[in-house]
Amino acid sequence: MSNNPHGRTRGLLLMVVAPSGVGKTSLTRRLVADHNDLHLSISATTRDPRPGEHDGRDYHFVGHDKFQAMIQDDAFLEWAEVYGNHYGSPRAPIMEALDRGESVLFDIDFQGAMKVHKQAGEDSVLVYILPPSLAEMSRRLHARSQDSEEVIHRRLARAKDEVAAWEQFDYVILNDDFDKAYSDLAHIYHAERQKRVRNPWIGNLVGDLLREEI
Ligand code: 5GP
Repeated sequence: MSNNPHGRTRGLLLMVVAPSGVGKTSLTRRLVADHNDLHLSISATTRDPRPGEHDGRDYHFVGHDKFQAMIQDDAFLEWAEVYGNHYGSPRAPIMEALDRGESVLFDIDFQGAMKVHKQAGEDSVLVYILPPSLAEMSRRLHARSQDSEEVIHRRLARAKDEVAAWEQFDYVILNDDFDKAYSDLAHIYHAERQKRVRNPWIGNLVGDLLREEI
């Protein structure tokens, strides 16, 4: 929980970036399900829903006009064009969660994560999920048979560019074993919550402790 008897922990913006087919969705959905102080930022997008996707759960599916109006209203913390479609992170629910001392997880692309990081500074944490190899990533993308050969090729090329930028991330997790990768991600979240800067109430506690007679 975000509150303890002494005070409130400041929420953080956890951004998890990974090439497609690296298991990011399973990892992030489980982290959110396991933590009631962590909320998934539901992006708005202009792309069509895929089979099984629900409006308001996976994305807010909106038309181009609505998306443009949201940009004009400054309703996005960040937005970007990815593979010809627009995606954006609605600002209001993020700010509301932070105001409650809770955290927000972003399942967004590399450029979006960098934009949020620029604005949020130490309130944001960047995690990159690394595939064991491009060959394995290609195998997984073919196995889920969602994309054409051309799209798979584009995703692999993009993954190479992102991996090259690995030093811009706070943490890099290797996903060659789901349970291990999940445990790494959960530990990162817990440790980040414990950081001194996110727990200003510790100052009062320390003050009390220093006033105690020995
Ligand atoms: P997909 O269409 O496969 O769901 O997502 C395509 C890419 O867009 C993924 O890399 C996903 O992380 C990214 N994405 C989803 N929502 C957002 C968003 O709000 N902002 C940005 N910058 N990228 C997003």
